[in-house]
Amino acid sequence: MDIGSFQGRLEALRVGAISDIGAAADLDALADVETRILGRKGELKSVMGGIGALPAEDRPKVGALANPVREAIESAIETRREVLGTAALEMRLLAEREDVTLPGRSLWRGGLHPIRETEREIARIFGQFGFVVVESPEVETDALNFEALNIPADHPARDLWDTIYVQPPTGTPEAPPDEEPRWLLRTHTSPGQIRAMRATEPPIRILTPGRCYRYEAVDASHGFEFFQVEGLMVDEDTSMGTLRGLLDAFAHAMFGAGRPTRFRPGYYPFTEPSVAFDIQCVVCDGSGCPACGRSGWMTILGAGMVHPVVLRNGGIDPERYQGFAFGMGTDRITMLRYAIRDIRAFLANDLRFLEGFPA
Ligand SMILES: [Zn+2]
Repeated sequence: MDIGSFQGRLEALRVGAISDIGAAADLDALADVETRILGRKGELKSVMGGIGALPAEDRPKVGALANPVREAIESAIETRREVLGTAALEMRLLAEREDVTLPGRSLWRGGLHPIRETEREIARIFGQFGFVVVESPEVETDALNFEALNIPADHPARDLWDTIYVQPPTGTPEAPPDEEPRWLLRTHTSPGQIRAMRATEPPIRILTPGRCYRYEAVDASHGFEFFQVEGLMVDEDTSMGTLRGLLDAFAHAMFGAGRPTRFRPGYYPFTEPSVAFDIQCVVCDGSGCPACGRSGWMTILGAGMVHPVVLRNGGIDPERYQGFAFGMGTDRITMLRYAIRDIRAFLANDLRFLEGFPA
């Protein structure tokens, strides 16, 4: 082999290498090309292995021919690597691109439970008429839950409420000595009215919201744990007329101005006379539907003039003062407001349900 054909081989190698380098599609492919041409067992090495076949006087010229070829290949690889590297980076930037001008995704920060929200709305409405919220214990004595409210031990009303009796909790204040210290989970919030009457002098205008408990079979409209708001007004000239006007104002604020209401005769041991307070059905507006039992009316609360025995048990002279009381299921009011069909949803702790209410 002479130096001319050696130079020809180098030139062929250079041309082929530059072409392959240009064709490498990514950094991995380029590394493969580099190894194949410049590696320890690469093509350049192989061409250089032909030196031994050259005449002795030509061998000193080999370096001057081979070095520029090696440098040209190395330079082409370097340039290609930069191009491919930049492209890869751009691809990645494109793939991971974030539009920082988009509005942020807001976190749900939690909100009032729908029952609590309804409770506050009720308190807001009656607050306009001077009613203040008073809370009382959920663990009560039999005496305050029943006896003081004109429901003695043999009273049939007790059969309506399957009461959950409990051991007196540690730290519970002793019951007054004249009361049977028999403890229960309050079946209604009415004992709060007795407590308020004993603690203050008329005029009284209070709301007693809170949880109540009865040993109920749980279904779509009954829970063993439920919520009530009761109201009590005691003054020298309270009347059924005052009660009706107040409840109308409440119904119109809660369910819409102008919604028809009515009193129906009712019965409670602690009021006399007693009434059920109905509003025109919020589903069918009075034409009759399954939600209102086709009557066109829905009962939203019970009320009446406080029984003189109850006033006396509260330390109030029934000859001088009259009062009225009313009580409603906060669950039921909330179900009517939001068209909720199943009372169990309130205490199921399902965020999909709870997130549906305004925070
Ligand atoms: Zn209806």
